[in-house]
Amino acid sequence: MLLRVGHGLDFHRFVVGRPLILGNVDIPSEVGLDGHSDADVLLHSVMDALLGATGRPDIGQLFPDTDIKYKNADSSRLFAEVWYGLLQEKWSLVNVDITLLADRPKLSPYFLNIKERLAALFSVDISRIGLKATTAEGMGFLGRKEGMVASSVVMIQKLVI
Ligand code: MG
Repeated sequence: MLLRVGHGLDFHRFVVGRPLILGNVDIPSEVGLDGHSDADVLLHSVMDALLGATGRPDIGQLFPDTDIKYKNADSSRLFAEVWYGLLQEKWSLVNVDITLLADRPKLSPYFLNIKERLAALFSVDISRIGLKATTAEGMGFLGRKEGMVASSVVMIQKLVI
């Protein structure tokens, strides 16, 4: 069995007038995240972890924010493209572990919903999806509630004969 680990990190700024989409789930919030695509910071970090695990170019190179094609793009479609590329090479998910860093809004009420959506996107059991959140205790840009960060680690495997 061949195992690979990948890590992904993403940042997006809060703005008024855009939705807050995390793991393809619409989160009720007075602020959303700014970005060229739908700014799904969580999925972006997971995609970069998958790409990193297999030595592929990162999402900034694959889906450039200068390309009009990705304007307001649904990140779950970009995720599907990345994951399909790995499936074609016979990779499967061992587990993914995600940490969201944000001083607003409170995210724990949406954990189950997000984990179910991620399990569906990966076509795996929900026990393979880890999700948690922490605050910056008022420090720095997170503490000033200017944006949020997502950090993800994935492990993938494939049988080698
Ligand atoms: Mg991003």
